[in-house]
Amino acid sequence: MSVPDLDAVRVLLVEDDPELVRMLTGLLSDEGYLVESASDGQRGLHLGLVHSYDIVLLDRGLPAVDGVDLLGRLRSRGVTTPVLILSARGSPADRVEGLDAGAEDYLVKPFDIDELLARLRALRRRHLDTARSLPVGARRLDLDSRQVLPASGTSADPVRLSERECALLATLAGRPSRVFSRAELLAQVFPDAESEVVVDTYVHYLRRKLGRDTVATVRGRGYQLGRP
Ligand code: CA
Repeated sequence: MSVPDLDAVRVLLVEDDPELVRMLTGLLSDEGYLVESASDGQRGLHLGLVHSYDIVLLDRGLPAVDGVDLLGRLRSRGVTTPVLILSARGSPADRVEGLDAGAEDYLVKPFDIDELLARLRALRRRHLDTARSLPVGARRLDLDSRQVLPASGTSADPVRLSERECALLATLAGRPSRVFSRAELLAQVFPDAESEVVVDTYVHYLRRKLGRDTVATVRGRGYQLGRP
C-alpha cells in the first residue's frame, strides 16, 4: 500500500498559458509540491470546490470564468485555501481588486521564480499558523489540545475529543460548505477501518458530546458540518 506524503503541499494552478503551466508544474514539482492544473476558470472552480488544496495559484485573465470572479465564488462557498494571484495587470487598483476579492497575495507577471517560491513558502507558513483551530458554529475546535472551545462570552466548559473524533470533526469543519460521503470520511479519517459503520459511530459520538446539530445528515449523500 502506498503511503500518501502528508507533508507535500498541494497546489492548484489555474492558468491558461500552456507554456507557463508546463514551466511552473515542472519547477514546483522539483520543489516537492504536488501540482494539479486547470486551463480555464470553470475547471479551476470545479477542482477548487471539490478537492482540497493548500495553495491556489490563480491567473487573472482566464477563459470561461475570470480569475477574480472564480476567487469570489470559492470564498462565498466557504473555501479558505490561500490564493496567490498571478497577473499581467499590476496597477495598484488591480492589486486592490484582487486582494479585496479574497486573495492573500498578488504577483505581477513576468515574475521572478525565486520570489514566487518565497511567497509560496510564506503563504504556507501563515496558513499553518492559523489552521491550528477551526470554527464549529460559534465554537472553535482547537487541534492542538483536541478541545472544542465554547463561544466567547459563554461559560460552558471546553469539550475534550478523542483523536478520531477530533480528526472527523476537523475534516468536516475544514470544508464547512461541503457534503462528505461516508466513503470519503472512511478513507480520510479511518483508513484502517473497513466498514462505513465506523463513520456513523463517530458521528454519533460527536453528536452526543457536542449536541445533535453539530453534524448534519444529508440524506442519500453523507454528512456535513451542522449549522445550528
Ligand atoms: Ca491568462
